[in-house]
Formats: sequence, structure tokens, C-alpha cells
Amino acid sequence: AIYGSERPASTGPNLFIDSQATPFLQAVAQFHTTQWQASASINGQTPQTSAWQPVYAPWDHSHQVGQIAWSSPEDAHAALNAAADYQAAWAQVAVTERADIFRRMAQLMQTHLAELVALCQREAGKTLQDSIDEVREAVDFCYYYGARAQEISEQPLEITDLTGVIRRYQRQPRGVWVCISPWNFPLAIFLGQISAALVTGNTVVAKPAPQTSLIAYRALELLYQAGLPKQALHLVLGAGEVGAALTSATQVAGVAFTGSTPTARHIYRALAQRPQIDTPPVLIAETGGQNAMIVDSTALPEQVVKDVLLSGFASAGQRCSALRLLCVQEDIAERVFDLLQGAMAELRLGDPRELATDVGPVIDQVAQTKLEAHLTNLGAKTHILAQTPIPEAYQQQATFVAPTAIRLQSLDQLGEEEFGPFVHLLTYRANELPQLIQQINAKGYGLTLGIHSRNETTAAYIEACARVGNTYINRNQIGAVVGVQPFGGQGLSGTGPKAGGPHYLASFTHLVECGVGD
Ligand code: GLU
Repeated sequence: AIYGSERPASTGPNLFIDSQATPFLQAVAQFHTTQWQASASINGQTPQTSAWQPVYAPWDHSHQVGQIAWSSPEDAHAALNAAADYQAAWAQVAVTERADIFRRMAQLMQTHLAELVALCQREAGKTLQDSIDEVREAVDFCYYYGARAQEISEQPLEITDLTGVIRRYQRQPRGVWVCISPWNFPLAIFLGQISAALVTGNTVVAKPAPQTSLIAYRALELLYQAGLPKQALHLVLGAGEVGAALTSATQVAGVAFTGSTPTARHIYRALAQRPQIDTPPVLIAETGGQNAMIVDSTALPEQVVKDVLLSGFASAGQRCSALRLLCVQEDIAERVFDLLQGAMAELRLGDPRELATDVGPVIDQVAQTKLEAHLTNLGAKTHILAQTPIPEAYQQQATFVAPTAIRLQSLDQLGEEEFGPFVHLLTYRANELPQLIQQINAKGYGLTLGIHSRNETTAAYIEACARVGNTYINRNQIGAVVGVQPFGGQGLSGTGPKAGGPHYLASFTHLVECGVGD
């Protein structure tokens, strides 16, 4: 295998205070003992709350990160009322002023980079690289949506009819948005949703995933510091009960949700069943994927394996874009699988604060139990090709799951999305390619697709037949870049519009006619 040489042993958690560490790593290390706090925020006030509860790191259940006061459904109602009260005033604020707040937020996040990186490592269990990328994406969303909002407001849509009459249309905010964001991108997607809604003149009640409430609260504090009026954005913290209070309320004009497909369905039903609906609310849902990579016989095995490692195991496979199904043409399959085995033996699981760590923990015990159950339930017809061991130090008091490559005999053996570090492997013969793509499409998801081929015709053929939102050729299939690769899928993978793309903001607005001329 090309990954034959042993890596030096981990230098342990002291790495960051080592005299050789760069100033940035030392700055991050200063936040390795900070205790953060989070609570609801309604008009900037913390409601009368129940007791504070400690929060522990997923990579060490004795390592406290801070404390949280959870919200009640009553807090959710109060937050919605506050958002509704201020919406008309916020809509009057000039779009440049709103965009400026997010530009200042982007700058503040860069000033606070070391703290935010440490917070992502400790609360979300993200590796150093993932944490840096997280902040970078959050910064990009703030700049990008700010700039886009100015663009669409400065250029009203004009339509000329056959008689030469020009009709002008402008975008107006819809009202109050509920933003429900996931723990796997606790800063980037949290801020992506919120910035899109606020910059277009809506007010927002945000409910971040409970697992990453501290990160969300810290972002809220920075937004207030950047000049966002406290009446424009409200925060509630909690799980299903609080979410249900938000999505069943009549004040809501739209919901931006990123998370699992079943939860998106649930929200859709709740919105449809609201009593006294005047205008049906809009739902933007970014959900799961059962993402494939198709590798033909002309592909470069070494490159394939490198991209499988990143696509399947980076972020412990906890990305909706992550690779779940690797399909390799029979002719080179054994070579690819052999290299993959070697490479997986080299992956290092561990403390996400250590530089040597490739794969951190999964987010919590619920996720760990579900993933472990998947491995237990694999039928006798599947076979584990490779599994990276969990070091003994992380087998207790932590939620690690071993990266695993599982050989399937047929695509029927692939069930629902498993949100963790598992890649299923399949081989196919050249003449089976059309049927393979058809079967993948028939799973109903449609998020990312990887293609590895040095034959342009084959790559173009696969791309044309597959029904997905984002295709990546001869590279890994994660990490879409804001403003460059609008991200989002179809079918069970989401409603669109794509996040980080030119059409995203339109969904947060109404198009209203504002004048006729010639
Ligand atoms: N945008 C991310 C990526 O391209 C995935 C977002 C998600 O997992 O929700 O990897």
C-alpha cells in the first residue's frame, strides 16, 4: 500500500503548549479550559430559566465545556412574539446597513478565530482543520449573503411585455423565520440560515441543535456586538418539544431547516397542519444523502483512495455530503480495496485538539448507538474489509465510532443513510454501469456524487444520468465552497434552493410589483 510507513506516535494533548507550536495553535490552546454558557435570548434577555446543566465534550465525557439553561415551549412562543413585533421596523432598515452588520460579524469572527476554533473542537468534537474550515465557511456566508442582498435590492426585476410596457418587481421580506440548524456545521450553517433571513429584512427565531448550543450562543453574542438589534434575532435552546412549538405557531412565514430527512418530513407536516393559515409558510430543507462515488477502470487508484478517506471519514463521516457508497469497476477493485485497507490502518482517531488526529468522535451517545447497531445488523452477506481501531484511551467516556469499510454484494443491502464513518463498497462490471446509476437514483436521495475516471465520455455520461445536486469529478466530494459551489440536493436530499448560491436569498422574500413604465 502507498500508505505503508508508520506515522510518529501522537505527542499527546500537550502538543499545543509545546514551545514548537505556532502562535496560532498557542492562541487556540488558551481556550482549552474556557467555560462557555448558553441560554435562550429573547430581545437580548435571558428568560427566567430552570437550572443550568453542564455540557461535556464528546471525546471525553469528563471534560466540561460549559453550561446550558434549556428553553421551554413558552420561551419559544415569547421569542416568536418578539420577532413578530419588530419585523416591520427591521424591514425598514436599509439593506446596506443590514449587510454591514454581517460584514462586521465576518471580521469579528476572524478576530475571534482562535476562540471559535477551540469551541468547535471542544463542543462539537471537530478536528483542527474542520474547525478552521467551519469558521471560514461562516465568514464566507456572512460576506456572500450581505453582498447578494445588496445586489438584488439594487437591481429590481424588470419585465417588458410585447407592447413595450415595463413592469418592475422588488423583493420584500416574508416576515418571521424559524431557523433550525444542525450540530455538524454548528457555526457555518447556523449563521448561513440566519444571515440569509436577516439580511433580506426578516426577523428570526433560531433553534440550533441542542448538542452545539454553546457555539450558537457565542455567535449570537458576536452578532449583537456587530450591531444587530437584539429584537431582530432571538434564540431558543432545546430539542423536539421546543422545535414543535416553533413550527406549529401561526406567526411563522418560513422555516429554514438542515438536518435529517425524517425530521424535515415532520416539519413539513407540522407546517401544513397549522390552524388558521393565512399564507402557507415556506420550508427550505437541506437533508441527508446516500452519496455514491463511481470509479471506472481508468481511474487512478491512489487518488481514489485519498479522496475516499476525505469524503468518507473526514468529520467522522458526519456530513450530509459524505461518501456512503463506493462503486468500483471490477477490473481495478482489488487494487483500490487493497490500498484502502492500508490507508485505513493509518488513520488516527483521538482528541480533536491534537494535530495528529484525523478522525474525531461522533457527536453523542445516541449517534454512537445507532451507528454501532448498523454494524451489528449487517447481514451475513456483507463483509468488513477494513476497520480503523479506536485507541483504548477513547473506548470509555467518549463517543468514538471506528471508521469501517463494508463490502456489499448488491445495492439492495444498502438501507437508510447512516450518519457516520462508514463506507459501503460495491463492484460492478462495465456493462452494468447504466443499471448501477439507475439503482442509485432509485434510492431517492440526490445530494453528492463523486466520479473517478480519466475517460471524459464516461465521466460525462455518469454525470448526465445521475440525479444529484452536486457532482465532483476526480476529487473528494465534500466541502462545497460558498459562492463557488452552491450546495444542495434533490429528492429526499432537500427542497432547494442551494445554499451559498445566487438563488438562495430569493426564497426568503416575496416578489412584489412596484411600478409600471415604458
Ligand atoms: N456543505 C457541506 C459540504 O459540502 C455539507 C453540509 C452538511 O453536511 O449539512 O460538505
